[in-house]
Amino acid sequence: MSVWAVIVAAGRGERLGLDRPKAFAKLNGRPLLAESLERLEASEWLDSIVVAAPPDWEEPVILLAEELGCGKVVAAVPGGETRAASVRAGLAEVPDDAAVVLVHDAARPVLAEEVIERVLTTLTEGWDGVVPSLPIADTVKRVDGDQVVETVDRDALVISQTPQAFVWPALRDAAAGAEDATDCSALVEARGGRIKVVPGDPRLVKITDRADLELVERWLAPAPAE
Ligand code: C5P
Repeated sequence: MSVWAVIVAAGRGERLGLDRPKAFAKLNGRPLLAESLERLEASEWLDSIVVAAPPDWEEPVILLAEELGCGKVVAAVPGGETRAASVRAGLAEVPDDAAVVLVHDAARPVLAEEVIERVLTTLTEGWDGVVPSLPIADTVKRVDGDQVVETVDRDALVISQTPQAFVWPALRDAAAGAEDATDCSALVEARGGRIKVVPGDPRLVKITDRADLELVERWLAPAPAE
C-alpha cells in the first residue's frame, strides 16, 4: 500500500512582508518548508512526497530537498492561484495505484509523527478522509459587519488543521473540479465523502505573521543546558 504526501507550499504569505514566498521565510535560519519536509521524510508512514512550490521556486525546493537528504521527494511542481489549485497541481503527480494521500500545509511546520500516525491509522477504519482538529475555547459569534447576529454553539464546532489523510480515489475525484476550498476535506465533504475528526495538535499552528514565526522559533529552539 503506497502512501503519498502532498505539501502545499505555494502561498505568497503577504502578511509576513518578505521579499520571498512564505515557504522560504526563515525559521531559525532555515526555510520554513525545511521543517515539514524533514518531518514527512522521517515519517515511517510515508513513501513519497510531492511539493506544490511557489511558481518559479520549484528548483530551490528540489535543491532544499537534496540538501536535507529528502529522498522521498519525487517532484516539485508549480502551485496555483488558490490552495485548491495548488493541491490539484500536487495531486497530478500522484500515481493511480497510490492508496492514501496525506495533504499538509507547509505553513504548519511543527508536524509530529503521532499526528501523522493518528490520521493514517484512523483512515483504515473505513473513512474517506481524516482531519486533525482542535476544540474552540472561545465563544463564537456570527456577525454582519460589526453587528452580532447570534452566538454559535461552539460545542458543535472544531478548528480544522493539516495533515489531512484521504483514500486516494476519494480525494482525486473530489479535487478534479475547479472548486476552491480552504482545506481538502471541504472538497471531499462536498461530494458526500465521510470524514472523521481526530485530535489535532496545538503546535500545528499555521504561520501567517511574524508573531507566529517567532512563537514557533521559540518552540523549536534547543532547551538550555541544565
Ligand atoms: O493561504 P493559506 O493560509 O490558506 O495557506 C495554507 C497553505 O496552503 C500554505 O502552506 C500555503 O503555502 C498553501 N497555499 C498554496 N497555494 C496557494 C495558497 C496557499 O499552496 N495559492
